[in-house]
Amino acid sequence: MQAYKFSDIGQWLNGKLIVGRDTTFTNIITDSRSVSNPKDSLFIAISGKNHNGHQYITSLYQQGVRCFFVEPDFTISDHLNDANFFVVENTLLAFQQLVAYKRSLFACPVVGVTGSNGKTIVKEWISQLVGKSKIMVRSPKSYNSQIGVPLSVWHLNATTELAVFEAGISQKGEMEKIASIISPTIGVITNIGAAHQENFSSQQEKLQEKLKLFKDSDAIVYCADSKLIKEGVERCYPNKKMFSWGTSSDCTLNILAKETSGSIIHVEIKYKDEVFVLELPFSDEASFENAMNSITVLLYLGYDFGYISTAIKKLVPVAMRMELKEGVNNCLVINDSYNSDLSSLSLSLDFLVQQSKNKTQSRTLILSDIYQSGIPDLELCQQINTLLKDKNISRLIGVGEGLRTHCNQFDMDAVFYDSTNELLQSLTTHMFKNEAILIKGSRNFEFELVSEVLEMKHHQTCLEINMNALVDNLNFYRSKLKSTTKVLAMVKAFSYGSGSYEIASILQHQKVDYLGVAFADEGVELRKAGISLPIIVMNPEEKSFPLMIEHHLEPEIYSFKVLGQFIELFKKEGISDYPVHIKYDSGMNRLGFVSDDQQKLFEVLKEQQELRVKSCFSHLVGSDEKQFDAFTHQQVDAFKVFTAELERHLNYSFIKHILNSAGILRFPEAQFDMVRLGIGMYGIGAVEQQKLKSVTRFKSFISQIKYVKAHETIGYSRQGELSYDAEIAIVPVGYADGLNRRLGNGVGKMIVGGQLAVTVGNICMDMCMIDVTGLKANEGDEVEIFGPDNSVDDLAQSIDTISYEVFTSISRRVKRVYYYE
Ligand SMILES: *Cc1c(COP(=O)(O)O)cnc(C)c1O
Repeated sequence: MQAYKFSDIGQWLNGKLIVGRDTTFTNIITDSRSVSNPKDSLFIAISGKNHNGHQYITSLYQQGVRCFFVEPDFTISDHLNDANFFVVENTLLAFQQLVAYKRSLFACPVVGVTGSNGKTIVKEWISQLVGKSKIMVRSPKSYNSQIGVPLSVWHLNATTELAVFEAGISQKGEMEKIASIISPTIGVITNIGAAHQENFSSQQEKLQEKLKLFKDSDAIVYCADSKLIKEGVERCYPNKKMFSWGTSSDCTLNILAKETSGSIIHVEIKYKDEVFVLELPFSDEASFENAMNSITVLLYLGYDFGYISTAIKKLVPVAMRMELKEGVNNCLVINDSYNSDLSSLSLSLDFLVQQSKNKTQSRTLILSDIYQSGIPDLELCQQINTLLKDKNISRLIGVGEGLRTHCNQFDMDAVFYDSTNELLQSLTTHMFKNEAILIKGSRNFEFELVSEVLEMKHHQTCLEINMNALVDNLNFYRSKLKSTTKVLAMVKAFSYGSGSYEIASILQHQKVDYLGVAFADEGVELRKAGISLPIIVMNPEEKSFPLMIEHHLEPEIYSFKVLGQFIELFKKEGISDYPVHIKYDSGMNRLGFVSDDQQKLFEVLKEQQELRVKSCFSHLVGSDEKQFDAFTHQQVDAFKVFTAELERHLNYSFIKHILNSAGILRFPEAQFDMVRLGIGMYGIGAVEQQKLKSVTRFKSFISQIKYVKAHETIGYSRQGELSYDAEIAIVPVGYADGLNRRLGNGVGKMIVGGQLAVTVGNICMDMCMIDVTGLKANEGDEVEIFGPDNSVDDLAQSIDTISYEVFTSISRRVKRVYYYE
């Protein structure tokens, strides 16, 4: 990568340059948590709604970063005197301008892809089709936002022969900035759907905004079968070159015929007066649309049909997510077959580091050759080696000629194979033990075969956890809080059924302030996995006190008895100022001190030094129900009085908190210093449910389909009986997995291939039966018990309970699979 001199920035942008000791940078970072080449990095301190990058400057400086973009409020203290600063009103804007300037220095073709769906797939498919024929740069994953776009475009370099970037917007005014950064020579609009419609008055308006991406483009690729898009594009850019595809004869690519047979689509296309037939290796409409957009771009770039028809047969679906699974011999397996280039490798390594059970767990990378990087193999291997050492990778298993040829560039435990086949022949499970393994290969290396060997095999019923959705929900609640309000994330009961350290480490990475667990054991498990956030234990039991001290877990103190026991123990151990949390009972009539205890509590607390009140809190009984609002206000008022008195007597202040998820949305005025977020983070809200994302999906599959004659019975006690000849699917999930037995006999509903199927007969211990008569269903098909398409709330209501109980009833034998999009 080209290095830029920091002091040159003054020539490109308006702002104040403060040069300590001038240096160069090649790399740009906006996220203080993932730094790989500190000495070569420029850090952009962005002040967002929930995060302020300026906060991390000192720590980045200590790691070796010397170049910073900061805003005027930031005070540059003396200890930073050899660092370099560029001071501007808006650092994000300056970052975007910097990258736009860099972009203007390159003349290679640049494809800009926008639209509601399919952006990432079109970008990846263009790259799959181009293959080794060009040196490419493209957005890593779906980096398409105001920050993601400039980070992607920054990778343009002198060897780039083709670049493909995606651009996403969620509101008006955003595209203009992105357009000047990407400045695509070829524009692609995939389609217009419902996403982000709340910020636009009509689909037309949204289209109008998206089309701004193409203001400087030479040509526009679009599907002319969509009237909205065709008219929009033609009205907006009457003088640009149109590269349309569709069924009408005036399209640049005219589709004459299209036929689906099995899993293949044959299309007959007329282009420049010649007719060609292509065979596409899939049968669904969305893939067809994505493939047509990609093919049209290739034709525009000058590739011929001969090339395209061969390349297209090898198109493979884009794995949009990174999966985290339990592996053999207590290993953790991260499978990222998304794509393989240096920047996405660096992202996956960050995830590996973040998910490793503790700092000492050894880390193995199974890596294939990387194509299309434009960097000579030798130099590429040196760069990979630096990256791996930076991330403390203890072992490399390299596959492919490129890596093998330069095997002496790697100074760590490393073995190399020429091909995936060769690796598979020598791969045995005892090669791996107690380690975290990242599997990362270019598509054609078929590393799914490798991950199959290393993953623990469980039965196929599993609970999928969408980590992005969890983070989005967290940020949604954060956006409702003042910037100074702390967040305690509730991870009790195995994080409401969704996992233990896997969830906690994401929350730690997202910088929540506190974690809450119910029992000491849960906290110990998190500490053993390397979680360092403060943790409150809501139900400290006397037996576990020593364990709590050993692992620095902070107890909730709810009675004089517990208070006395702790003081005595701390005295014996010679501990002082141990952080504790006082629970005030404002009306739940469960654990906690009541107002009458005030005087005595003040006295006991004042007369000791063993513990220090870190926070005082109370819990609302009905924050989600309007009918209890008067009572909620009463609770909040009582809490105010109690904490004010306590602070006055103790003569120091502490954190105060009373709101749970529903409370955050309904009583924001009572957020005090911290809130305790629970169910909302896991995707369930009593209010604003539509703004939350579904996090968990409980799924199984059809193990067998039976044909049962009318009036025969199905299952135990002859409970299931249908009046018609029926097709019955057997699903291997039962009450021992946490599928409530009351969901039997038609109460429970599951989704099979988008269709609703109801239960028949009693739920058994390890399986249940559903009626799939007349539905499209086959053995092996996936069944959703609850999830994005089958609401857990409806399921809970049908058996007269709440989603909290449904989530926490899913048994530990059900495998949890975590993924990142
Ligand atoms: C579980 C719990 C919460 C979280 O409640 P949600 O309704 O899930 O947001 C908050 N505070 C305490 C004391 C809890 O036990």
